[in-house]
Amino acid sequence: MLVAPTEPSLLDAHGRAIRYLRISVTDRCDLRCRYCMAEAMTFLPRSALLQLEEIAVIAERFIARGVTKIRLSGGEPLVRRDVGELVRRLGRHVGAGLDELTMTTNGTRLADHARALAAAGIRRVNVSLDTLDPERFRYITRHGDLAQVLAGVVAAKAAGLRVKINTVALAGLNEDELPAILAWCIDQGHDLSLIETMPLGAIDEDRTDRFVPLTRVFETLSARFDLIRDGHRTGGPARYWRVKGTDTLLGLISPLTANFCDGCNRVRLTTEGKLYACLGHDDQVDLKTALRSGGIAALDAAIDEALRIKPKRHAFDLSVPAVARHMSVTGG
Ligand code: SAM
Ligand code: SF4
Repeated sequence: MLVAPTEPSLLDAHGRAIRYLRISVTDRCDLRCRYCMAEAMTFLPRSALLQLEEIAVIAERFIARGVTKIRLSGGEPLVRRDVGELVRRLGRHVGAGLDELTMTTNGTRLADHARALAAAGIRRVNVSLDTLDPERFRYITRHGDLAQVLAGVVAAKAAGLRVKINTVALAGLNEDELPAILAWCIDQGHDLSLIETMPLGAIDEDRTDRFVPLTRVFETLSARFDLIRDGHRTGGPARYWRVKGTDTLLGLISPLTANFCDGCNRVRLTTEGKLYACLGHDDQVDLKTALRSGGIAALDAAIDEALRIKPKRHAFDLSVPAVARHMSVTGG
């Protein structure tokens, strides 16, 4: 049943209206990017995960209460077997409460799914790609095949999806390649968002060795490309530039060096049904238990509680994981 949007009622204690829900549909992944996961990553037991119907009910409740944008992420969303069903169900709300349904994917299975995603109402996808060099790609992801991801990107474009490439800037791994990646995006008609590494979850290496401040990257890029500041805001930690004379929007996502919390409009639903009001804090409410024990009324009460505790700002410090959970659990 389609839910008719009602008056927005998702205001937090600091007066911010919540419009954006990110959902991690699985914590599992077919890659093991070094900055994201340990090689021998332990995943949650399947019994701990939200069922598809529960994800849909929670998402629809958020839509009814004023959320206009939903992003499906993970883990790798396309490794969840029933994700297509979820996309079709939520896609029915696009234009009827929801302005946009999007996905962040590593692209390995995108070639198989791109047409179905487009048919379900998705218009844009973010594809994570940290290098265009097959050997580097294999190293960063610990075993990935670059050709698969590139085929996924081609399929997405052919299906009419707008592609944004997400690239984490990594000292000694891809910092030297970032101008070439931007040139490739311009050539292919994609957008590009560069991301600073964030201290989320234990990994096998020291993130401080790989951290690149995007202020440094910006200096390099602006020496080579004509970058014009763009007012485009998403309520998140990104600032945008238009590459003059092209279709490409360049985003710089620097949660550590830039303060974006005042305009934050988002909350995150984990694979286990916990709602985190801030990526950089451990406070959460358990929507799965609320829904299972008390239905929609209890779900609403739990959502209200999350809004009440949403902190004013994050507390990231690169040297220690600010929070123990990995990005794959909270959904990037
Ligand atoms: N598997 C999908 C993918 O890679 O696009 C979706 C989930 S992934 C966690 C979402 C985004 O988070 C990716 O662009 C990834 O590069 C980024 N990411 C993961 N761990 C990160 C970290 N510790 N710091 C910054 N970005 C991170
Ligand atoms: Fe998987 Fe995405 Fe994490 Fe890479 S960044 S390990 S693709 S969840």
